[in-house]
Amino acid sequence: MNTVNAELSFRTLGSGSCGNMAVVRSGSTTILIDAGLGSQRLIRERLAECGVEPLQIRAALISHGHCDHLAFAGLKFCCDMGIPILGQIDTLNKATEMMVNKTGRLPDHGVLQVLAPGTRIVIGDIDVTTFFVPHDVPTMGFVLRPAGMEFPKVTVATDIGRTGDDLIGHFMDADAIFIESNYNENMLRHSARGLRDRHRVQSATGHLGNIDAGRFIGRVYNLSARKPSVVTLMHLSDDHNTPACAIEDFKSASGLSHPECFCLSTAPRNGVGPEIRVVREHCRKS
Ligand SMILES: [Zn+2]
Ligand SMILES: [Zn+2]
Repeated sequence: MNTVNAELSFRTLGSGSCGNMAVVRSGSTTILIDAGLGSQRLIRERLAECGVEPLQIRAALISHGHCDHLAFAGLKFCCDMGIPILGQIDTLNKATEMMVNKTGRLPDHGVLQVLAPGTRIVIGDIDVTTFFVPHDVPTMGFVLRPAGMEFPKVTVATDIGRTGDDLIGHFMDADAIFIESNYNENMLRHSARGLRDRHRVQSATGHLGNIDAGRFIGRVYNLSARKPSVVTLMHLSDDHNTPACAIEDFKSASGLSHPECFCLSTAPRNGVGPEIRVVREHCRKS
């Protein structure tokens, strides 16, 4: 019997309304989740900070078509580097519209590729399963694994309007979870923003608050046979949240203490986060 290590790493390059992007690596494959940073300079600088050479990137998976997840800079970067952009038809239509509006040209043939929720594909050494996420435009979350392995499993989803039972299976037994924790209820209630905007954020097709994120992961944790070692809270609002608030709300709503249960942190809004590596030992017959 040979023992082999299956490893997958996840690192955010920005998280929130000012731009979302993350790097996923396993084996010799590197992919991006979202491409919403505001400038090519920022994209290149943050990739360099992670030691990622743009030509290494095999694909960019786009969760949805909002501009904080697919910005023109990200679209142009992928087109220039020949990186396939994978997303739902609605997302790809937005990308085409953005390219035509900005440059008067269509994206290069083959750059935009359809990826629907409920699909499992393998990109090099990374296995990707997509799932439906409720939001006000067609949105997907991602389950990531080293190719050919069930574990380690990493689940990532942001811009979640509601957490129903239909989402639980995608998060259960994950080794690392990256989930939206957008707002503190009290801060949102007293926000200077208009009523309509606040209702949109709180609606079933808006964003996930700290308490809902905590309750949901509390349920996931209790139902899971394998417990996560890492939970990272993503897409924190600049106006209606703080990292300390998100952690505090999450802990009280989930009923889980950290670091006893898992390592809990928030993804930096405007900068590169720590590299989260999950490793699972597998025994393989030689
Ligand atoms: Zn969105
Ligand atoms: Zn967003």
